[in-house]
Amino acid sequence: MENKVTRIGVLTSGGDSPGMNAAIRAVVRTGLYHGLDVFGIYRGYSGMVEDEIQPMDSRSVANIIQRGGTILKTARSKEFTTPEGRKIAYENLRKRGINGLVIIGGDGSFRGAQIFSNEFDIPCIGIPGTIDKDMAGTDFTIGFDTAVNTAVRAIDKIRDTADAHDRLFVVEVMGRDAGYIALHSGIATGAENILIPETKTDFKEILAGLSEKEKRRKLVNLIVVAEGDEIGGGNEVGRLIKEKMPHADVRVCILGHIQRGGSPTCLDRLIASRMGYHAVECLMNGKYNVMVGIVNNRMHYLPLDSAVKAKEKFNKDWLRIVKILAS
Ligand code: ADP
Repeated sequence: MENKVTRIGVLTSGGDSPGMNAAIRAVVRTGLYHGLDVFGIYRGYSGMVEDEIQPMDSRSVANIIQRGGTILKTARSKEFTTPEGRKIAYENLRKRGINGLVIIGGDGSFRGAQIFSNEFDIPCIGIPGTIDKDMAGTDFTIGFDTAVNTAVRAIDKIRDTADAHDRLFVVEVMGRDAGYIALHSGIATGAENILIPETKTDFKEILAGLSEKEKRRKLVNLIVVAEGDEIGGGNEVGRLIKEKMPHADVRVCILGHIQRGGSPTCLDRLIASRMGYHAVECLMNGKYNVMVGIVNNRMHYLPLDSAVKAKEKFNKDWLRIVKILAS
């Protein structure tokens, strides 16, 4: 990989997250600033295989920093997971002279990028875009802050009605493999219990806590469940509580996809802008096949293959905080 990068492609891949547009804008404008030709690749790796690739100029990313979703669209591509599919993708890049890629996505997308780069000698830079925050090598992922703030605003509203009726609410938030949205939003809304996939859920303990609170006439309870908790999602948790405490007024609310959409927060726009800028700087400076992260407010570069393997260590102290503060 000795050749200078002159023409770059940018794509968003895997699950979408608010702030991806801000990252696209930063990549396009930083690339143009350096005199690179910049191409937008549509629908993630699908667009690379199906040749949905368009030149981008400064105007093509105007007025998008505040918009959720991704103007480049995103998708999951089966073809790209095969050597034949990746060969076609490579030919589509080659015919345009694209010799560098910026991939905004999650660990699956980075796995694909790493394999692609090894096969075809095209430098790839990853920008972590996922609402789940479950990436090593970065304190932030684009979209997490927006998603968690959406969850907090929704749970606050649920708490108002829970309080009016003395109800027990089980709220399911997103997080199939990771409990960060549940943990952060649960602490921020004063949840009594937070159920996450990273820790074993002790259902007996939850029931005992609820009964004890009932004795103290504390009737408003909020349980925040990550969708991937091993007990099951919100519906299952609600069903089990109802089974053991038939007299309780239990309601379940699944927040669902509202957590993915909406205008990104200031923090998400900021980290997306910084990461997008530094991703292009990496390509300019020969720092290839890394994920651009931010650790302790400094840029941090993690080899793509480590970004693929590692998972952030979970801070168990936080669960202790939940227990103590929700008494
Ligand atoms: P995310 O990036 O959000 O984790 P996925 O895991 O769905 O999302 O990955 C996005 C895309 O990355 C997949 O649809 C596929 O095209 C590509 N990809 C993932 N893993 C691999 C792999 N092992 N080899 C090649 N491509 C992969």
